[in-house]
Amino acid sequence: MSRGEAGPLTRFGIPLVVAGAAILVGYMLSVGLDGYFVYLGMSAIVAGIALLGLGVVTGSAGMVSLCQLTFAAVGAWVVSWLNRIEAPGGFLLWLLCGGVAAGLVGVLVGLPALRLRGINLAVVTLGLAAAADLTLVQIQFPGTVDGISVERPDAFSDDRNYFLLGIIVLTACCLLVHFLRRSRWGSGWQSVAFSERGTAAAGASVRTSKLSAFAVSAALGGVAGGLLTGQVGLAFPASFTAMQSLALYVLAVMSGVHLIDMAIFGAILWVAVPELLKRWGVPQDWGFVVFGLLGTHALVTGGNLGVAVRELVRKRSKTAAGVELTSAVDDVEVLPPGEPVLVVRDLSVSFGEVKALSHVDLEVPSNGVLGVIGPNGAGKSTLVDILTGFLPQATGSVELDGRSLNGQSPTKRARAGLRRTFQQDRVPSGLTVGSYVRFVARRRLTSAEIDEALEFFGCPPARTPLRSVDVGARRLVEVVGHLLAKPKVLLLDEPAAGLPHEEHVAFGARLRQVPARFGVSVLLIEHDLDLVRSVCDRITVLDFGQVLASGPQAEVLANPAVLKAYMGETEML
Ligand code: ADP
Ligand code: MG
Repeated sequence: MSRGEAGPLTRFGIPLVVAGAAILVGYMLSVGLDGYFVYLGMSAIVAGIALLGLGVVTGSAGMVSLCQLTFAAVGAWVVSWLNRIEAPGGFLLWLLCGGVAAGLVGVLVGLPALRLRGINLAVVTLGLAAAADLTLVQIQFPGTVDGISVERPDAFSDDRNYFLLGIIVLTACCLLVHFLRRSRWGSGWQSVAFSERGTAAAGASVRTSKLSAFAVSAALGGVAGGLLTGQVGLAFPASFTAMQSLALYVLAVMSGVHLIDMAIFGAILWVAVPELLKRWGVPQDWGFVVFGLLGTHALVTGGNLGVAVRELVRKRSKTAAGVELTSAVDDVEVLPPGEPVLVVRDLSVSFGEVKALSHVDLEVPSNGVLGVIGPNGAGKSTLVDILTGFLPQATGSVELDGRSLNGQSPTKRARAGLRRTFQQDRVPSGLTVGSYVRFVARRRLTSAEIDEALEFFGCPPARTPLRSVDVGARRLVEVVGHLLAKPKVLLLDEPAAGLPHEEHVAFGARLRQVPARFGVSVLLIEHDLDLVRSVCDRITVLDFGQVLASGPQAEVLANPAVLKAYMGETEML
């Protein structure tokens, strides 16, 4: 276990023990606290659940959402309505219904997020919050006009017991978020926040990642709203204004609420700041100004409290983990290349006047490593983009194992067994090496399998946070993840670019064993001719978007036209 990930006992045991302790503390507080503080505490619990939701959609998935309290209003509305019609099941079931209803609304609100980002998404969500604000004032919550208070469960009917119920619900929500963040969904959220292209390249759906984040976030908002309704009896629009949603978002950004403890801390601030202002005789609305200032500070400095505190604690191990490839390799097993597994015909694409690729033909043999070389700007990365579906406007045909991929999305192509890595870093820093590899591999893997593959490529151990892995090693972790997905073909876009030269050759020795070891054929784009020479049986040379030469290594590298085009460039490097 020293190299690998945490065992199941640690993974499930520790959160459950912490949850038990939290409920115990909650019980003691519910008995011991002064009545007024019980009321304040309940308000903090409600805010905490709403903030946990923001931690998912904004903190993890990186999307702006300025209508969290609108989702809370949906929850409150459903609970009030079910209470009014005296629906069977009682408060706890109504609360659940409120969460589900808000989650569904969250999916609807998430739909624009499939196309919009940043300021545009902010405008849409804030607009929605404002519209909901006005509507609620018009229609009011069910039961408000007739004064029909929401009925709490019998066992939690007085304020102290209801506070304990709040603690239990909050703890359950924390556990839910904790485990979801460690699931495929959670990895998808982190991935989509960092790079939508990287997410699709891992065969994950960008759409599902975004919508699930909105749904979970909104459902938590809905639960918060429902719980608030039980606390106050009658819900009022004033609790769910757009202004408050905005302030909550700012608080979320400032405290870094993708971290569960920071969501709790944020919730305490949410209640404590206005309370302190009140005691000092300052109007409570100034609380928004305080949050605004703190939030502006967080945005300007690009940091938040949660991350800052954690970095302070971890100061000791600040050095970035890198690649450790020794040159020694065990017996090199190399299979003879077989029939073509990836067949590419007549590929062309233009960017305005620039013909980035024209009429390119190419074949990747099964069990083989095809090298694609060419000067900067020759169209190599463009080739990978077209093959993996990122440039749908391109013409030509792509066949994988006899099946046409034409017209398929990047996600579909990845799932069909055509994987790629990127020339730029697309590895989300919020995950650990192991969870990222699992996410990219998209299949059940034992820890031993992961450890072995990581070790083979000299990568840092599975439990290392990617944040503390240097860029060269991160790109090899990306390679490992895709190899463990067992695709038919893996396209590598200059995978060794972040490594020192000595390690290129060591990396090449491992790459050469990939077809035999992982059952994956490789198309390798590479600048370093030594690496290409040591790894590739066949080479295709691109120049100005056209195939200059293609064939067995020795033949191609002796071709005078190739020497002229390619060597000229390397001399300039
Ligand atoms: P390589 O990977 O071989 O260095 P690229 O495939 O990145 O080359 O680029 C090939 C050519 O296409 C270059 O001239 C580049 O400027 C152009 N190009 C690539 N992507 C785009 C784009 N999205 N828009 C416009 N031009 C592009
Ligand atoms: Mg390139």
